[in-house]
Formats: sequence, structure tokens, C-alpha cells
Amino acid sequence: MTTSTIALAGNPNSGKTTLFNALTGARQHVGNYPGVTVEKKTGRVSIDDTTFTIVDLPGTYSLTAYSLEEVVARDFLSMEKPDIIVNIVDASNLERNLYLTLQFMEMGLPVCIALNMMDVAKKRGISIDIEKLSSLLDVPVVPTIARQGKKGTEKLLEMLACEFNGTIGRPSINISYGNDVDQALMKIETLVKEHGFLTHIYPARWTALKLIENDDQILQLVREHQAEKGTGETTTLFMEKVFNVLTDLASHLELTLQSYPEAIIADYRYGYIRSILKQGVITQNHDRSRLEISDRMDKVLTHRLLGPAIMVTVIYLLYHFTFTYSEVPVGWLESIFAMAGGAADSIMADGLLKSLIISGIIDGVGGVLGFVPLIMFMFFFIAILEDSGYLARVAFMLDRVFRVFGLHGSSVMPFIVSGGIGGGCAVPGIMATRTLKSRKERMATLLTVPFMNCGAKLPVFMLLIAAFFEAHRALLMFLITIVSWTGALLVAKLFRSTIVRGEATPFIMELPTYRLPTVTGVIIHTWERTWQYIKKAGTVILAISVILWAMMTFPSLPEDHPKYIGNSNTTMDANDEHAQAALRHSLAGRLGTALEGVTAWAGFDWRINIALVGGFAAKEVVVSTLGTALSLGEIGEEETLSLARTLSQDPGWRPLTAVSLILFTMFYAPCFVSVVCLAREAGSWKWGLFSVVFNTGFAFLIATAVYQAGSSMGF
Ligand code: GDP
Ligand code: MG
Repeated sequence: MTTSTIALAGNPNSGKTTLFNALTGARQHVGNYPGVTVEKKTGRVSIDDTTFTIVDLPGTYSLTAYSLEEVVARDFLSMEKPDIIVNIVDASNLERNLYLTLQFMEMGLPVCIALNMMDVAKKRGISIDIEKLSSLLDVPVVPTIARQGKKGTEKLLEMLACEFNGTIGRPSINISYGNDVDQALMKIETLVKEHGFLTHIYPARWTALKLIENDDQILQLVREHQAEKGTGETTTLFMEKVFNVLTDLASHLELTLQSYPEAIIADYRYGYIRSILKQGVITQNHDRSRLEISDRMDKVLTHRLLGPAIMVTVIYLLYHFTFTYSEVPVGWLESIFAMAGGAADSIMADGLLKSLIISGIIDGVGGVLGFVPLIMFMFFFIAILEDSGYLARVAFMLDRVFRVFGLHGSSVMPFIVSGGIGGGCAVPGIMATRTLKSRKERMATLLTVPFMNCGAKLPVFMLLIAAFFEAHRALLMFLITIVSWTGALLVAKLFRSTIVRGEATPFIMELPTYRLPTVTGVIIHTWERTWQYIKKAGTVILAISVILWAMMTFPSLPEDHPKYIGNSNTTMDANDEHAQAALRHSLAGRLGTALEGVTAWAGFDWRINIALVGGFAAKEVVVSTLGTALSLGEIGEEETLSLARTLSQDPGWRPLTAVSLILFTMFYAPCFVSVVCLAREAGSWKWGLFSVVFNTGFAFLIATAVYQAGSSMGF
């Protein structure tokens, strides 16, 4: 004879007490919870040779310490650790009731659902696909009608007996709460783990979530954690660090969405629930009179056929507007940098310093900064899509495609964050794969997100498009997006059928309600990302530019190298040839030349090779290095041409070269920082190395195939 504890938990009026009475009959005991005057009912029921002690918990809507009932229920669950939690869910009010269910799941408790009031639901014309609900939530679900006593609860008893002999699962779900909250959540979770705060009672993520939800009890414990451990430096830092993240998040959400963390979290939870119910769990037999606006919009925007068509149009328009509106300011910046170059040229005496300033700094960093307006407009339009909730729908629609390629619905967001539409970054994308539970699906995602078009690749594409495909800018950007997705998905499929082969796991998509983006929110999101780009150009890119300039300048040509080569017609050509010879003689020139034997297959000469090697440090460097390399060969020219025009007039370049270079840049080794991050998340530096070798090989294969095919067709 064994005894076990079952806790009955649920919203007020879901039928807990009725169910409790039906299960226990007369064998009950009524008292108070220790210390508080909240009624505590316990009873017993025996099934086979197991005696269950059943506890009727106070009814609550949530597990955040907003009320006494909630604290009592939560403390019981976390301290007494019942063996099973039977969550009574009112079937006629599924959406609201599942809100609590999600929290049991997030707390990592062994929960099952008694779907009560089935008779009421039926009367209202609601039919529920119980198996589907159970499999989507990954939690056992049993229909009950508590008011019918023994008869209505038979199935529950059967299930309890059966589940108990088997093992009741502890579902674990990681709901995404949007980029801002998720990032704060991750930071606090790390702090909580580092400081062992409540880790013996709650999962760290759950504690972090409660802190963000402004849970008084847990906040108080953070303060006490400090007092308990004395005012040692580390504990002081813990409280400060946690509170810093919390206040930053709160003020950020206030500014961007004019909302607060609890509201956002509730929003996403309901979004999660609604997306489950939408997948055929609930069928309403007569039309609800008032469909929510959001639902009505989704009928069109996520429609099976219309949805993808609208999505494609939206993304195309995004590129179209980006190019149209940024044309003028890009022109301004170009002339500013040209003027700066011209000024330096006329003021400074010829020499190394002048070469460093003009070739190394102005052309290098200027080349990258010149794209700021373009990037800013793209971020602006993406911010609108994101803040309105449409981006989540894009993910929802892409999810259908993803399964075909062995990826998971949770892979979609990492892809978009990495630059799936344009202008992201693989580093947060790689971090975002943490929401994937299956290691194999996670690895396939991790290894393919670097194929997306991050903000660093954009200027490379923009430059090549401006130089060779001026007339079809938006179309080309659109094609680039399609090609990178196709490449990523095909490689993912390849990985999923070879190195990370395995079963697919089920997925539920969160769909927050649509909201009108706020002006300040969009501006702040745009500015944050643009500023990051500018900062990177001013620091990392500047440093790499200078290093590469040095590599392209030293060792310099010996004194006795003939300054003027006989056959040249004009002095300018002679100067040019001299500079080219000097560049070739330099360290970088030699490296680029050494690689030429292989890279010529893909149409890359030694100067492109230098740029691509530099691009491993950061992809923007491809642009700045081309700028430096071309201007090194160009010193002395009267007129400073913009880089795009210089490229289009260079005899060594043709449109096919540009296409090949675009493809190579898209697929080759992730930048250094991404590789480090990827290796850390994958758990071994070998995966980092694999990604460098595989991606570069893959990129070379594609670029070569296209270049060779194009050449033989006469392009
Ligand atoms: P609690 O607040 O969760 O303890 O809910 P109660 O057990 O007090 O039930 C609230 C009301 O719902 C009572 O009037 C019950 O008779 C009724 N009720 C409980 N279960 C069912 C059911 O399965 N079907 C119907 N029709 N009514 C129910
Ligand atoms: Mg009750």
C-alpha cells in the first residue's frame, strides 16, 4: 500500500470542490492552511492498492503572488510537492482557464487536465478535440462532468491509476515573450542560476519570469537573499543586477510599446493558447457573434493561399520602399565622404599617413557608413512589422514550410532574427535557438541561421547591386532573400538526413494580438539597431580596416622598383600600375594572389580574395577592403568616384562576378564572433570549425557552379 498526494487546482468556479466531493465522498477533512485562514480540504480515495490524499487548493487565475489564495496555492505546490496536479479546466471557457495551465507547465510540475463542465460546453455548441489538445500541450487530458458524481469522474480515476503506475510527465515549455522580454528573461535566468537563488525550489526560468511579472513574494526573497548572505559583494551585485535588468526592461517597454512587462507576458500567453485552440482543438458549432478583430485579420493575413501571397508582397514592398526612400540620403553621405577624401588629398602631403587616412579610414569606414540610411530604412519597416505583431504571423506561415525541411516551428524566429528578412545578426539568432528542445532540431537550426542576410552582409549586397544592377534593386534584394532561405532550408534538410537525423517534435506557435505600432516604439527600435551598426563601423570595422590597410601596404616595394613602367601612355596609368604592383607585393596581396589559383574558378581575383579573408572578421569588411584595395590602386586620380561606380568601371569586374560574389558572401564561413557563439551553444569548438569549413566549401561550390555556367553561356 503506497500513499501519494494529488492536488486539485484550477480557476474559481471551475468545479474543484464538486470534483473533490465526487472523488472522496465522505472521507474528508476541513481545516485551514497553516498560518492563514484559507480553507484547506483534504480527503482520501483508494485506487487499486494506492491511497491518494487529495487536496482541494484555493481557486486562482494565476500563480503570481497577487493574492493570498495564489500564494497559498503556489507555496503548497512548491513546498509540499504533490505527486500529481489535477488541473480542473472549465471546458466552456477554455481560453481563460488554460492561462493557469500554462503556468503549471512553466513551473515544470507534473500536471494533468480534468476537462470539466463538458456538459455545459456541449450545450453551448462547443466541441473539443481532446486528443489534439492533449498532444499539443503534451499533457494528459480527461473529460469530466463533476456534477454527475462518480459517473462523471470515472475516467479521471482510471487515468490517475494508470498515470500513476506509469510516469506522469513534467511538461516543459519555453514560451517566447517577444525579443525584449526574452532577452531580459535570459539575463535574469543566468543570474538566478549563478547565485543559486531559489534553484532548489523553482526552475530558474520560472523564477526569472516571476521577477519580470513583478511578483512581490519573489522580489522580497531577492532582497532577503541579500540580507541572509550578508552584504557580501556578490550578493549585493545579484540584487543590483536583477533590478537593473528589470527597470531597463520596464522603461524600454514603456517607451517602445507603451506597455508593461506583466501585460506583454499575458499577451503572449494568450497568444500561445489561442494558437493551440486554432489548430482545430475547438469547433464552435454556431458562429460567435463577435469575432475579435485580431481573429478577423488573421483570417485573411494567415489564410492558406492569401497569407503567403500577402507576405511575399509585404517583403517585396519593404525592399522597394527601403531603396526608394534611402536614395537621397545615401547620395548625401556619398558626397560627404568624397569631399572628406578630396579635402585630405589636397591638404596632406603624399605619404603613408595620407594613404592611411584616405585609403584605410575614409574609404574603408566610409564605404560601410555610406549604407546607414539604407539600413536605417530597412530597420524602420521591419520595426513596424515586428511591433504590429505581423512578424509573428510570418513565422506562423513559414512554420508550415519548415517542417518539410526537418526544422521546427521554433526555428523560424532564430532565422528571422538572424536576418531572414534583412538586417539581423546571427549572434542573437544563435542564442534564440535555445527555445528548441530537441537537440537535433536545434543543431540543424544553429548551423543554418548564419546563411541569413545579416546587417553586415547587406552593405556588400547593396554595393554590388548598386554597381551592376542599379535598375532592379528591390527585385534583386528580394531574389537574394529567396536564395538564402532556399540554401538554408536545403542544407538543413541535408543535415537532418545525415549528421543530425531524427524524429520531428510537435510545435505550437504564439500569435499575439495585432496592435498599432507606436511612433516612439518604432523610432527607438530603429535607432537602437542603426546605432549598433554605426558603432560597429566606428570601432571594430575601423580597427580591422586599419590592420588590413597595413597588410595591404607593407612590405612596400623596394626602392629600386621601376617607378614608371615603359609601355604606359600617360603618367596616371603608370601611377596606377605602380600602385597595383605595390599592393600585390604587400602581405595581403601575396595572400590574395596565392589563393587566386583556386578562387579564379568562382571568378575572384586577388583583390576580392583579400576582401573575403577580411570578411571573416566581420562581413562589412568586404566592402571596406574593396574600398581600400581599389583606392590604393587609384591614388592620384583627380576625381574620387564612389565605390560602386569605381567597381562598375573596373575592367576586371562584370555582373557575373558580382553574382558569384553575392552568393559566396551569403553562404561562406560565419563571421568570427558568430563562430565563437555557435561553438559555445553547440557545446564544442568542433562544431564551430565544422561550420567554417562546411559553409566555405558550400559557398565555393555554389559560386563556382554559377560562375562557370554563366561564363560558358557568355555572361
Ligand atoms: P470551485 O470554485 O472550483 O470549487 O467550483 P465548485 O465546485 O464550487 O463549482 C461551481 C459551480 O459549478 C457549482 O454550482 C457546481 O454545481 C457547478 N459544477 C461543477 N462541475 C460541473 C459540471 O461538470 N457540470 C455542470 N453543469 N456544473 C458543474
Ligand atoms: Mg471551491
